[in-house]
Amino acid sequence: MDKQKPILVAGHRGLAGGAIVRELAAAGYGRLLRPAREALDYRDREAVRRYFDVERPAAVVVAAAKVGGIRANNDFPVEFLLHNLQIQNNLIEAAADFGAEKLLFLGSSCIYPKHAEQPMREEALLGGPLEPTNEAYAVAKIAGIKLCQAYFRQYGRPFICAMPTNLYGPGDNFDLAGSHVLPALLRKVHEAKSAGARTVQVWGTGRPLREFLHVDDLASACRFLLENYCGMEIVNVGSGQEVSIRQLAELICEVVGFGGGLEFDSGAPDGTPRKLLDVSRLTGLGWHARIPLREGIAATYAWYRAAYDAGTARN
Ligand code: GDP
Repeated sequence: MDKQKPILVAGHRGLAGGAIVRELAAAGYGRLLRPAREALDYRDREAVRRYFDVERPAAVVVAAAKVGGIRANNDFPVEFLLHNLQIQNNLIEAAADFGAEKLLFLGSSCIYPKHAEQPMREEALLGGPLEPTNEAYAVAKIAGIKLCQAYFRQYGRPFICAMPTNLYGPGDNFDLAGSHVLPALLRKVHEAKSAGARTVQVWGTGRPLREFLHVDDLASACRFLLENYCGMEIVNVGSGQEVSIRQLAELICEVVGFGGGLEFDSGAPDGTPRKLLDVSRLTGLGWHARIPLREGIAATYAWYRAAYDAGTARN
């Protein structure tokens, strides 16, 4: 990729998009396009086309999406399906029509069937029913993959797709109703410690297994793929390490310095029992995650405390 040509990072205010902007800027990409949300709504097809007509991005990163944790996904399927289809369709179509030389579409590990063989290989896609709690989001992301692959096959456009596992890191969403488990537990444990509470409530049984990837690792993988990969096959991006939700909660208690207990709310949904990506395609290409979970949680907690104290956290 040419470092002097314009690159659009759609979703630059989000967790993934923000990290990708930092990564590309640090690597010397000098023209990163970051339209303000108020100035350009990616759900508006005509507005997106006008923007592409003027700016002519040479590369596009589709990191803009409506995202959320298990409860938000379960409660708002219309928005997760409709808004994500609109955002990605408009960006992918405009990238093709206005001459982008490369596009990277970010999917998610929840595209794979609920009972996919673990660790999940890219070939598991569409091999069985999805996890119901995030089916709407997953269906939208699968449609995005298929659209990129269709442009690749039919028109020879190098539109590639990366499937990140559960992400966390600075800039995450700490709103308890909408967030994923890691920021939610960091906040709950921090608040329990501050309030001198004896316990912290954890949704579900604590038994589900999840893999976590620091968002700076994701951003590094995205740059690696933009610079080195040009294939139709989707590529998993993960750490290759998994922990149970109980282990995650215990680790967070250690990092925060909370000595109280955990209380499991088995009335809340567990979601899919296990979600671990097979990352051998990506490691075979030469990329590996490098931020250990404990270190990444400590850095995220430091960021949260600074943002929380300064009142700049998202919630
Ligand atoms: P998922 O990976 O799509 O299931 O999304 P989440 O990150 O929201 O949830 C992962 C697991 O953590 C699920 O089993 C949740 O029930 C569990 N969990 C435990 N406590 C919490 C919490 O406070 N917030 C969230 N979002 N999940 C929690």
